[in-house]
Amino acid sequence: MITEDPLPISVNPLIDVSMLRLDKIHPLISGNKWFKLRYYLEAAQAAGKKRIISFGGAYSNHLLATAAACRLSGLRSAGIVRGEQPQTLSPTLRDAIGLGMELFFVPRDGYREYKLPEQFQREEDFIIPEGGYGDAGARGAATLLEYADPGFTHCCCAVGTGTMMAGLIRAAPPSARVVGISVMKNNRELERAIQNLLPGKQDNWELLHDYHFGGYARHRPDLLHFMEELYRKTGIRLDFVYTAKLVFGVNDLLQRGFFPVGSRILVIHSGGLQGNRSLHGDDVIL
Ligand SMILES: *Cc1c(COP(=O)(O)O)cnc(C)c1O
Repeated sequence: MITEDPLPISVNPLIDVSMLRLDKIHPLISGNKWFKLRYYLEAAQAAGKKRIISFGGAYSNHLLATAAACRLSGLRSAGIVRGEQPQTLSPTLRDAIGLGMELFFVPRDGYREYKLPEQFQREEDFIIPEGGYGDAGARGAATLLEYADPGFTHCCCAVGTGTMMAGLIRAAPPSARVVGISVMKNNRELERAIQNLLPGKQDNWELLHDYHFGGYARHRPDLLHFMEELYRKTGIRLDFVYTAKLVFGVNDLLQRGFFPVGSRILVIHSGGLQGNRSLHGDDVIL
């Protein structure tokens, strides 16, 4: 069940911070992924499609969520995976196969220009863009705010493709600001990617590019330490790819006085702990 829980990182008693726990929805269709998928799956079923095709990396929350959601909806699924097929599959991909997903590997150099072969373009196939990016994804993400107390002044989220953030911007009350923490290094195309999913020009949002820790899926000891400390203090698990960078960023912004006194900050725990499965040995205790 989704709850909104206090997040004890505020340094000022007049600034309230809470966390929307989308990580609690479902162990595999974790977090924002279910919201981003829901209208794609509805459209696929309405059109009588039988198989969902989507894309992602070896630790992709999106692919695993797609596999699980398709299994539950009685649809078949195929995942186009970025990278050569490895000797041993990641636990995420093994789980996806266990949920009935067929996997196809595409080497990294060809991935960007990759054209789907005929076998995935049958009448029965429905293609969901990588990360669920698109209008249906943003519309679905907009519905996640139905689970939050609408009195927030700021809504903070981690940003990958920007689909979730576009949904939040669309659904946030007019007086609230949406602050996105990009998990990639210098991805200056993100602003436009988000803008393209909005109905018009809006200035109630901003993207911050200072908390990427070296780039997508990169990390540093201070980030892992922060995750471990928060887990010890609150029992809340974060992942180093998305939500740890988000909460680290919000914590830093709080200390720098970024949020005015009286703010009520809603932090979105967008779920998705698959990335942590790529950590080894004594990197992390979670
Ligand atoms: C996929 C994901 C995101 C990014 O969502 P976008 O809509 O692609 O920006 C954020 N957090 C988690 C945990 C995710 O799995």
